[in-house]
Amino acid sequence: MSAFDSAGNRDLNANFLKRLIDVECRDATYRALNPSLVFSRAKGSRLWDVEGREYIDLCAGFGALPLGHNSQAFISAMSPYTQSGEYPPIEHGMGDVYPSVQKVELLETLLRLCKRQAPNLSRISLALTGSQAVEIAVKTAILKTSRVGFISFDFSYHGVDLGVLPVTWRSDFKAPFKDFLPKSPTLSLPYNCSKEDLEQAFTTFGPNKVAAVIVEPIQGRGGVQIPRDGWLYMLGEVAHRHGALLILDEVFVGLGRAGGLTSADSCDADLICLGKALGGGMPLSACVGKEEVMNAWPESAGEAIHTGTFFGHPLSCSVAHQTLLAIESEDLVTRSQVLGKEILAYLQERLRPSKEVKEIRGQGLMIAIEGHADLWGAKKMDVLRKGGIIALACGDNGRGLQLSPALNIERDLLFYALDKICSLIS
Ligand code: PMP
Repeated sequence: MSAFDSAGNRDLNANFLKRLIDVECRDATYRALNPSLVFSRAKGSRLWDVEGREYIDLCAGFGALPLGHNSQAFISAMSPYTQSGEYPPIEHGMGDVYPSVQKVELLETLLRLCKRQAPNLSRISLALTGSQAVEIAVKTAILKTSRVGFISFDFSYHGVDLGVLPVTWRSDFKAPFKDFLPKSPTLSLPYNCSKEDLEQAFTTFGPNKVAAVIVEPIQGRGGVQIPRDGWLYMLGEVAHRHGALLILDEVFVGLGRAGGLTSADSCDADLICLGKALGGGMPLSACVGKEEVMNAWPESAGEAIHTGTFFGHPLSCSVAHQTLLAIESEDLVTRSQVLGKEILAYLQERLRPSKEVKEIRGQGLMIAIEGHADLWGAKKMDVLRKGGIIALACGDNGRGLQLSPALNIERDLLFYALDKICSLIS
């Protein structure tokens, strides 16, 4: 690929970024200016910018690519659409009408896998984004309990759609819209709070007010916060005793990233939300729940009361199905557990002398290197980009640097990248 565009201009990254800035809403994309970066191609855990420069992807498209870019699963799911001659598979968006074979097959496989760890999970509702999966869980909890209160946790991220903003923690996401937000009561507690604090929150709400406790089994954007042993179980036990549900938002860490397909088994979760990795690169998400909870929805009387044109899109379902089968057949959940431990040990050893690094923590392939200073992770993200590594800032005031590589990243490439990170950031 040439570093010149058709008009012979150099600095294609900067040029493309400028063209984007001229047409896109200014809130939409991080405008990495020094050096600027606009991607054009990708394969596995490697990416190339518009000037042909190579990068190693240690964020897997914000966790959305468990098998890396353009995986075999992705290509095989796509190929019948391009190669089956006169009658290719259907690709319509029909929402709640006339399902496709691809949707049926995906739902069966997803449930089969979920049930291995949490046999009570038995009904699925599909959507496109993580926020939408959480919104389905929130609506389900309201329908099941006839209550509208929610308990969530500091630094939680559940998306920014209006229906889920009340349970997302960061006030800057909410402040401009606060008068439009539903007046539903929500209360945020510290992640890893005590049982007493949780009981107190239920008391503050008063009897029969809390619909659900919603929690990320590991906080992702919040800086890779890990629950202490038994904490998720305690949340489920207390919630259930008060007639409330437990919702696990596994959009970022589900399907293997945190070293398990789901954490629902550790806490008797009523609903889990999946997204990102589920689509294997396509926009697809799901709320999976216990039958008695999901049956709070009325039977569709011809039109569902919660739907979307592209929910259950056949092509996305095909890619998701192949992706799940690959995660299963390549045992990537185990790989995530094992490799995650090796990465932690490697980084802890290599970065021990660094005065800038406060802590390295993680579980499975969800790892954070946290600096002492505000914006430490955000600044290192730029340094790494210059050095050909893509990792994202995370956590309180951008102090953390998050590594969430593809579950099948090649070992050599991974440890080459980790070595480079250690030399660039310490
Ligand atoms: N929940 C969690 C835990 C997330 O990490 C995210 C996205 N980072 C979301 C929900 C929202 O997903 P989406 O951006 O696909 O709406």
